[in-house]
Amino acid sequence: MKIALYPGTFDPVTNGHIDIAVRAAGIFDELVVGVYDAPPKTIVFNTEERVALMKKALERLRNVRVEPYAGLTVDFARQTGAKVIVRGLRGVTDFEYEFQIALMNKKLAPDVEMVCLMTNVEYLFLNATRLKEVAALGADISTLVPQHVVAALGEKFEAWQKTRRKSCQNPVSPLAPI
Ligand code: ADP
Repeated sequence: MKIALYPGTFDPVTNGHIDIAVRAAGIFDELVVGVYDAPPKTIVFNTEERVALMKKALERLRNVRVEPYAGLTVDFARQTGAKVIVRGLRGVTDFEYEFQIALMNKKLAPDVEMVCLMTNVEYLFLNATRLKEVAALGADISTLVPQHVVAALGEKFEAWQKTRRKSCQNPVSPLAPI
């Protein structure tokens, strides 16, 4: 049984992530989507929310499970029985980053391989950070994320707008760490 791990922040899940997960689920017997607990970047959704959004996005895939994790990705891969880590590549910048991670992971866990899937050209420009920026400013994101994610982002930013209207001094950014 070939198990693969697709790790990421997924803040929130986008159609680009879903495309990679669907394709990986078609290659491996089982796919574990690992939602990283404490990313070193600004997040809008907490871990529980990110897991719930991802679960709903992938609920139709029978061989996929979504789990939160903390610590080293290779340790989580071993815990889940995954011998392969799947990542998505959008371009040269992703490549540099993924290449470094792959080499470090190989040093830490020689038994775990990394497999990169090229983005679907439709999602080449799509990353969660840009998505949140434009969503916070009211852009239509309905072709970039599933409907339940459109709604979840709408709720987050509506709450932020209310806070901003109430206190005019130094409003908290919707993209501040939670
Ligand atoms: P990001 O903020 O870049 O979406 P994540 O940690 O959530 O960061 O991404 C998890 C994995 O999904 C990474 O391997 C990333 O390169 C990949 N990924 C993110 N967006 C896309 C996309 N639009 N197409 C292909 N892969 C993607």
